This record gives sequence, structure tokens and C-alpha cells, in this order.
Amino acid sequence: MLKAAWGILMIIEGGYLIPVKPRGRIIRDGALVIEEDEIVFVGKRDEARSKYSSDVVIKAPHHVIVPGFVNSHCHLFQSILKNLGVDMDLVEWLRRSIHPALASYNDEDFYVAAKWGLVENLKSGITTIVENHYGPRGYEAVVKALIELRIRAFLARGIYELNVLLDELREEPDQALSHVESLVKKYHGFNNALWIAIAPMHPYNASRDLLLKAKELSDRYGLLYHTHTAESTKDLEFAKKLHGKTDVELLYELKILSSRYHAVHAVNVTPVEIDMVASSRAHVIHNPESNLIIGSGIAPVGEYLKRGVNVALGTDGAASNNNNDIIEAMRFTVLTQRGFRRDPTIVTAWDALEMATINGARALGLEDLIGSLEPGKKADVVIVKLDEPHVYPVNDPLGALVYSANASDVETVILNGEVVVDGGRHVNIDEEALRSRVGKTLERIVDRARNRFGVRFPFEDYIA
Ligand SMILES: [Zn+2]
Repeated sequence: MLKAAWGILMIIEGGYLIPVKPRGRIIRDGALVIEEDEIVFVGKRDEARSKYSSDVVIKAPHHVIVPGFVNSHCHLFQSILKNLGVDMDLVEWLRRSIHPALASYNDEDFYVAAKWGLVENLKSGITTIVENHYGPRGYEAVVKALIELRIRAFLARGIYELNVLLDELREEPDQALSHVESLVKKYHGFNNALWIAIAPMHPYNASRDLLLKAKELSDRYGLLYHTHTAESTKDLEFAKKLHGKTDVELLYELKILSSRYHAVHAVNVTPVEIDMVASSRAHVIHNPESNLIIGSGIAPVGEYLKRGVNVALGTDGAASNNNNDIIEAMRFTVLTQRGFRRDPTIVTAWDALEMATINGARALGLEDLIGSLEPGKKADVVIVKLDEPHVYPVNDPLGALVYSANASDVETVILNGEVVVDGGRHVNIDEEALRSRVGKTLERIVDRARNRFGVRFPFEDYIA
């Protein structure tokens, strides 16, 4: 693996370099110098050449160099369930497709799916991920994949207590919380690259007691609290029936909203609820494609930004996206807001790039380490080529990235100073071998879901 050894520098010569901080700056003929796992220089190529020399030089003349992306919400097991339950609303999609499939995984299946999803995330330029795994099983398998792929990760440990049809996914709160605690003791801070977060799945799936006990645990260990919030109108109806309040009203009243809280989705909110999110300094995790495909709606991102709310970006699980392409998610973020508000200025390409980088870092409390290209920060770097017919010629490199490019244009990904994607391929994963394992794993899962739960997936109606 190509890595800047001790004292030896890696130099990347662009192309365009977008450091993200300061906002609005793009360096033409830029260069980035990395020593070990740290960025030591960001600036013009000529200045870099006069100060540094190295045998390890990556030339990126027709490229844009940006910070590694932060995927602030994902469910890796879904990476092998793409398009399994198409054309359903959120609750129906979960109950008829995702939950029966999830209850049919064994540990090996979780591991294969997580690995496949991580390869896709890394090839999309994602170097930090919030992996929200749920149900009682599979955590060690997911952790194994996270550690093997060396991605920076928060494992948000999901909990279902109420309103879940399958017994296989339901958990006793105390048991689930003590499992979270054991994960914290074992892995929180592991290798300075893996942390645990706590994640009651939706307020309609949790009693007040569970929500509060999760808060206690979050306070005790300083854990992020990561919960699907005000996602679709249907789950909000369930929440109102259970709690007599909407998600945001309840979480505000219980003082769970805080600067460690991730309001995942936060689509269906009133102006008063936007105020509650803003005043409590909670973060919104925006998942534009999943919100659209499930028909949950369009989150009021423009309003959140105006109120100073930190909005980070996620792909969500690949079964409700249906991929992990965060460049595409940036584009959807801008386009949906503009169409929604009939205002071409409400959210800009700069906003979207910040959501996918520094805002994600801020939501995770890692803004001093990652999220921008600055000396002293960790060397998480993405090099995207801009010379294909769907992108070239480049008038505005930021526009080229956000409005024309996609994940397949990511050529090189550097994670903590190591090249992990080179020429668009993961450097130490045999993708063909893994793909064939994925195909077999999915066949087994679909068979088990059919036999155990009598599920019929939509595709079975029209593929003869
Ligand atoms: Zn989700």
C-alpha cells in the first residue's frame, strides 16, 4: 500500500484544490503535501515544489482535490438489499422488506454486506461513516469489517423496543443498553478510528423510559445520540399515538435534543420545531435521496441553514437510496431545495460540499481532525477526475464536482495518509471475489426471508 513512510512526504499535484476552509476558496494548480497521516502543506504547486521534494508524487492535472467525505448516516447491511422493496412508504418498506431480510442474516452475512458497503463508500470518496446497525445481532461482524477497512467510523447501535412486528428485532431496553455499554468499553476510541454512538431507532419504536435511559448512557460516556427523527408522516402518526407528541416536541421536552444529538432526516417539522432543533444546537443529518424514494418529503434544509443549524449529509442505507454515492447526494440536496422553494439561491454547491465534509465532521465532534484540507489535519483526501465527457470541460470546478460528477469519477482516496482507492479500485480488496460472495449471500437471505416469514418481494411479481 502506498503510504508516506516516516519522514517521507507524499505530494499531490493538482488540478484544482478545494480546501473547504476557508469557504469559497479554490486553488488552481494546487498542491497538497502529506507527512505520515497528516497534512503539512496546502497551497500552490510552485510553492510546494520550492519547499518539498519526494519520490511519492500523485499527479492530478485534470482533477479536483477535496477532503474525504463524511457519510453521516448509513446502514451497511442494506448494501446488498438495493431495490429489494421498491415503491413502498417507510413503514411498509421496513415491515415487508427490510425487517424480514434483516432477521434472516447470520453473522457471516452481516460481515459480507458490511464489507461490500464499505468498499462502495470508500470508492465514493467517503473516509468517515456513521454506521447505524440495528437489531440484536451482527455487531461484532460489522465491527470486524469496519476495522479491516480502516475507515473512520461511528457505530450507532440501533434499538427497537416497540411497534416492530418481528420478535427477532425487538429488544428489552435494559439488555440492549447493557450491550451498548459493553461495546463502548470494548471499542469506543479504538485505534482513534472507531467510536460507539447510541441509537434508539425512531421515537415511535421506543418508550420514554428507553429514550431517557439512552440519554443517561450518552451523558455518562459522552456518546452521540443518533435517532431517525420526524422522518415520514406515517411514523409521526405512530409517535403521536404512543407519546401524544411529535418526535421533536417529545425529544425537546425530554431534553434529549443537544449538541450531541443527531436528528436523522428531520423532514416533517413545523417552524416551532425548527426553533427547538436550532436552540438546542442539535445536528440535522440530511438524507435527500432516501427521503425522496420513500416519499417522506423534502426536509427544510434552507430554513435549517438560515437558523444556523449544522446540517450534515448521509446516503442512508443503500436499500432506500439506492446506492452510497455521496456526490449524487450533494446534487440532490441542492436541486430538491431549489425546486421545493422555487429559489435558486436557497442552498448552494458550497453548502452541499460543506454538508458532505466539515459539517459532517462537526456533527461527529471531529472538526479539529478532519472535514477540510488544512495543515495539521488528518490526511483524508479525495481526488476526483474531471476529464470524462459528462464533466469536461471545466469552467467551475465546484460546479463540475457537485452538478456533473458522480462516484465513478473518484480516482484516488487517501485515508489517514494511506492510498486505499487507486485508479477507482480498492487497493487490497478482491472486488470480483467479494461480489460473488455477495450474490450468494443475497440468494440465501431472500430464501430464508421467504421460508421463515412468508415474504414476497415486489420483484417476484414481475420477473419470470
Ligand atoms: Zn436510516
